[in-house]
Amino acid sequence: MAGEPQADCLFCKIVAGEVPATIVRETETTVAFRDINPQAPTHVLVIPKSHHPDAASLADADPQVIADIMREARKVAVQDKVEDRGYRVVFNTGSGAGQTVFHAHLHVLGGRGLQWPPG
Ligand code: IMP
Repeated sequence: MAGEPQADCLFCKIVAGEVPATIVRETETTVAFRDINPQAPTHVLVIPKSHHPDAASLADADPQVIADIMREARKVAVQDKVEDRGYRVVFNTGSGAGQTVFHAHLHVLGGRGLQWPPG
């Protein structure tokens, strides 16, 4: 069923505490933890606790949680003191766009100058 934890999903395991992660924030609906392969001084993933394969599916199923994730992204930037300089939020959606983990997640990147367009 949409939103139910998936046994083979890495990020569902992080939500359940079965895989360790450096959690920086948690709410009723979201968890934020440091990316294991950081691409910037701040590189945090904000994920829904419910399982949805990508941001588009999550937006269809539960748009309020997308809003929760965006609010948490800003709180991460403030907490890491990178908000003033600017930070980037990215939902890679689909393998062609670089998505490798199919549990919706928002990348929050900051703490260095960021180029545009991204690769
Ligand atoms: P994607 O490529 O947009 O799907 O992003 C997946 C992200 O998850 C990548 O930036 C990975 O470095 C990160 N990642 C994969 N496994 C773990 C983990 O166990 N803990 C934290 N981050 C992870």
